[in-house]
Amino acid sequence: MIRTSSLSRRLLAVAALFAFPAAGAAQARPIHVQWLGHAAFEIVSPGGTRLLIDPFLTGNPSTPDSLKNLARYSGATAPAAVLVTHSHDDHALDAKAIATRSGAKLISVYEWVNAQGLPAAQALGGNVGGTFVIGDVTVHLVPAMHSSEPGRPLGFVLEFADGRTLYHTGDTFMFGDMALIQELYHPNIILLGVGGGPYTESPKVARRVIDKYFKPQAIVPMHYGTFPGLATAADVRAAFRGDRRLHVMTPGQQLTF
Ligand SMILES: [Zn+2]
Repeated sequence: MIRTSSLSRRLLAVAALFAFPAAGAAQARPIHVQWLGHAAFEIVSPGGTRLLIDPFLTGNPSTPDSLKNLARYSGATAPAAVLVTHSHDDHALDAKAIATRSGAKLISVYEWVNAQGLPAAQALGGNVGGTFVIGDVTVHLVPAMHSSEPGRPLGFVLEFADGRTLYHTGDTFMFGDMALIQELYHPNIILLGVGGGPYTESPKVARRVIDKYFKPQAIVPMHYGTFPGLATAADVRAAFRGDRRLHVMTPGQQLTF
């Protein structure tokens, strides 16, 4: 046992605040964010609600092998819900298999969720402006400028019980209504698509998205480095040079906010 004086305890508390700049003093319990590669993340809320976003795992060249085994997403570590921004395989590939295996709810756009043929109790189809409450998390469905079949593409804002919010942009270009996402939800953490190439906004445009519309405490870039033609980590670092809110993760890494 190490004894600490009250002064050193206070110094440790101050150090902890600087170590986790996204967390305010009143936030006792953390948000866990694990990058599974590409646009796939596992989020665990302060109350322990486990959510899986865009589970492209078994076919994902950047997902560590230990995270590709779908058995990991059932039983004691099953997600309460699987959130899918849009229908493309690099976001949706393993969603139905995980929901079927684990009993998790499946949240996405109404038409696509209905097309999966899951039991009604698991099929949470919605649309832009809609919300679902999963444990201690409210999931807000927001627009993304992309494509999806059937239905339309989405982003997600997760609102936690302590008032903090996390925005997963999905695949998108910058669009003016991002100002409304900031006005309504003021995201603290942004999981930001930066991959460029033929399908989504580039790192430079993603930097403009942040500078023009948002004031997050943490930015986690995603949807890069997975395939040839997408931006690299070096491209992302160059575009965000000088922005200390950027957290370049490695697939499998977990951050705590
Ligand atoms: Zn994509």
